[in-house]
Amino acid sequence: MSTEILRSYLEGAWQAGTGDGAEVADAVTGEIITRVSSDGLDLGRAVGYARRTGGAALRELTFPQRAAVLKAAALALEERKQELYDLSARAGATRRDAKVDVDGGIGTALVYASLGRKGLPDGTVIVEDDAVPLGKGGTFAGRHILTTPRGIAVQINAFNFPVWGMLEKLAPALLAGLPTIVKPATPTAYIAARAVLIMEESGALPPGAIQLVGGAIPGLFDLLGGQDHIGFTGSASTAARLRADAAVTRRSARFNAEADSLNCSVLGPDAVPGRPEFDLFVGALVTEMTVKAGQKCTAIRRAFVPAARIDMVAQAVEAELARVVVGAPGADGVTMGPLVGLPQREDVRAAAARIASAGSVVHGDLAKVEVVGADPERGAFLSPLLVRVDDVARPEPHEVEAFGPVSTLMPYTGTEQLRDLIACGEGSLAGSVVSADKDFVREVVLAAAAHHGRILVLDHDSAAESTGHGTPMPQLVHGGPGRAGGGEEEGGLRAVHAHLQRTAVQGSPAVLEAITSERPANS
Ligand code: NAP
Repeated sequence: MSTEILRSYLEGAWQAGTGDGAEVADAVTGEIITRVSSDGLDLGRAVGYARRTGGAALRELTFPQRAAVLKAAALALEERKQELYDLSARAGATRRDAKVDVDGGIGTALVYASLGRKGLPDGTVIVEDDAVPLGKGGTFAGRHILTTPRGIAVQINAFNFPVWGMLEKLAPALLAGLPTIVKPATPTAYIAARAVLIMEESGALPPGAIQLVGGAIPGLFDLLGGQDHIGFTGSASTAARLRADAAVTRRSARFNAEADSLNCSVLGPDAVPGRPEFDLFVGALVTEMTVKAGQKCTAIRRAFVPAARIDMVAQAVEAELARVVVGAPGADGVTMGPLVGLPQREDVRAAAARIASAGSVVHGDLAKVEVVGADPERGAFLSPLLVRVDDVARPEPHEVEAFGPVSTLMPYTGTEQLRDLIACGEGSLAGSVVSADKDFVREVVLAAAAHHGRILVLDHDSAAESTGHGTPMPQLVHGGPGRAGGGEEEGGLRAVHAHLQRTAVQGSPAVLEAITSERPANS
């Protein structure tokens, strides 16, 4: 790869922006990989192309035909996923990390292809429910239908999941019949662009179904309105800025935000050392801290443990963290790679220092780290950092997201206090309760549910098959209230429905029958 401007895929052609662009460096070596610029690209024409060419082509297809298109695109990626692994390594991803993004993304697209084939009608309209009688004489009724808007889907993604983030938004949009414009995050745009290239070269997608723009998207929102869908993943501050745009506030473009969150994990009082749940908790915390070097929106940031057991937990986690080998992805024994880049490392250091100011560091050092196979200063390496905060009223661990291998251990003394501490996160994507005590689990889950999009209960019964705290599943909702963005993605066909327009149609039963005679295949 040269240091040329990364090409965007617009109007069916790969085009480079102009100017110097933003430099994107290799996370391991600091070498400049590419530059990203959208200067000079005509985004207005891209929107027009999506509406005219992509939208028209997709609306021609039935749901099962769109599912087949999606499956073919996912299989093309599966065939060439080594290319994506190789590029991901340059962004700091170990093979385990890359699989989460690449295989996770492909798997999600395949699940959606299957849902689209089996769970949607052999047509283009979804009839949502039975007719509801609206008059005593039986001559007037109503029912809901879902149809494809005459719009486009614009997706704006975070840097940490360039493939999964793109595919989990592309899949429901495609099934719904909306053409997509992808705006990847600059630090990993080259990985998303390769995935689009692979799909494009496979010929699986109809023309205009997908476009990609590297760099900023000035003016794009001015072209969006009530038929369009904006899917955003990133920080809460960017979400707030985009949500305030007139495209959303005045013209009512649909806007879904997946933002950051101070996810928690709770160790139950029953989970004493020697019980499987104690080890499960420790293992999960270390996994969440180190996979993708903690650059996961769902990672455990706050670990709540019974006050009487916090020393033991701290020791056990510290012992596990001591075995983590930081270094270049692929180098001998390396289990955790660098952060995505040096600016990100500075952000994480600053955030982690704020959290640490509320307590003490149990493990790790913000200033130095031993690194295998690379130069610790040229690459964006950071040691995992476990902080302990005994004064749980301190705001820092509940408010500051250090988007790296950083977690905070905190004690709780009873379920009432625990409930308050969980709520201090102000809305999270994922929480977990590690306990075999069903009464405790019930109390905590029901109290925490209002603050979470997803809650994992982990115990010895489910551990072997559990997909883990940090892994969103396409069949289940991914999102969360409040700080987490207030959005919902995935959740099976819910995400497809969210891209469609729901219309209540009223009339005589005969008229309704004529309009809705295209029935769901599995109804
Ligand atoms: P970010 O700085 O908010 O950027 C997210 C995306 O927004 C990037 O593509 C960025 O593009 C774009 N963007 C920024 N300003 C924009 C503007 N004015 N108009 C249009 N697009 C704009 O977040 P990040 O640093 O990439 O990602 C880390 C954050 O994302 C963390 O806080 C993490 O918790 C969160 N996250 C959440 C989820 C989730 O599912 N909830 C998943 C992953 C990450 P550029 O890169 O070109 O600036």
